[in-house]
Amino acid sequence: MIDDMAAIRLGVFIAILALMMSLEWLFPARKLTKTPQTATMATRWLGNFGLLMISSLIARLILPLGLAGFALYATNQQWGLLHYLSLPLWLNIGVSILLLDMLIYWQHRLFHRIPSLWRLHKVHHADRHVDSSTALRFHPIEIIASLGIKAFAIVVLGIPAEAVILFEILLNGFAIFNHANIRLPANVEKLARLVLVTQVLHRIHHSQLMAESNTNFGFSIIWWDKLFGTYTAQASKPDALIDIGLTQYPNAKQNAWLNGLLWMPFSNKNK
Ligand SMILES: [Zn+2]
Repeated sequence: MIDDMAAIRLGVFIAILALMMSLEWLFPARKLTKTPQTATMATRWLGNFGLLMISSLIARLILPLGLAGFALYATNQQWGLLHYLSLPLWLNIGVSILLLDMLIYWQHRLFHRIPSLWRLHKVHHADRHVDSSTALRFHPIEIIASLGIKAFAIVVLGIPAEAVILFEILLNGFAIFNHANIRLPANVEKLARLVLVTQVLHRIHHSQLMAESNTNFGFSIIWWDKLFGTYTAQASKPDALIDIGLTQYPNAKQNAWLNGLLWMPFSNKNK
């Protein structure tokens, strides 16, 4: 079952990525700002996809059967709070997905708040352009830390494997969706942002202004930001003109090439 699910997850991932990249190509919301120093699209993609490859390989080495395999083991041991509630499976899965999504929201806030964690997460924010490939751009150590946090939650809460698989598919899909360099038609966007983190909302999170970047932490539903007071509906500049990235990483070598990205958390340019 785990193998089938891994194949489905990969299939959905490739389908959503292909769809979003096609839409970005046909209807780009923003242009990549070109200066002699900034990285080309090809260099960015090489770096971002490179990080994905390395992170996936390491995750596979640590947890060969993935988080779902781990959840299956935890369920067999009857670990976790949800076992005591004996909810019907559909409700158990629904509650689990909501809890995991809230956990990821708080994890994201923590990675912005704690300096040593920000060193890892800034690799994601140093991208001077936001597109689907930015959704793949996380330092391998951040991926390992995130795996550890999720594994801990699975054990403590007793999250079933089905919920873990569904959540991972949804999280990947929504991350690619909200990083895509597209803009939904205005009336659709207005409705979508009542529930979802739209591209326009997520680009505010990638602003160079910390007051804007420290908001809109959600990855899928926007309710956690509204509930916990970190929602920003509009940036100080219009969507097409928001300065994206980090001011201390303006040049290509550090913020696009793979070696620069891997080294970034250990360099002395903190903040
Ligand atoms: Zn962030």
